[in-house]
Amino acid sequence: MSDNKATEKEKKSYSVLLPQDLVFRLQFIKKLKKGDLDISKEIAKHFYDLISDLEKKSNLTSNSWKEAKKCPKCDSYLIIKKGKRGDFYGCFNYPKCKHTDSLYKEKKEDNV
Ligand SMILES: [Zn+2]
Repeated sequence: MSDNKATEKEKKSYSVLLPQDLVFRLQFIKKLKKGDLDISKEIAKHFYDLISDLEKKSNLTSNSWKEAKKCPKCDSYLIIKKGKRGDFYGCFNYPKCKHTDSLYKEKKEDNV
């Protein structure tokens, strides 16, 4: 077949390109309807994917979590919060945990 070359760049009629996440969502719904889906596992996976996306966007690595400031009271993470008198560290677990910390190093006069 010598006239093959003329048509070789034509897309095959079935080669519609479906975005991967679109297919993923459809498969997800199908599995959900059939009832063979470990929903908590799927949700966890979804959130892990989301976290790694957000990590990349914030220029964080998995190491950043180890270096991140943690709450000494409940072991949750401290995040920067906005207050009337400026920013401060507050526990992510607020209002369950009310631990706060200053963003700045305090000069300690007392050496006890
Ligand atoms: Zn806390």
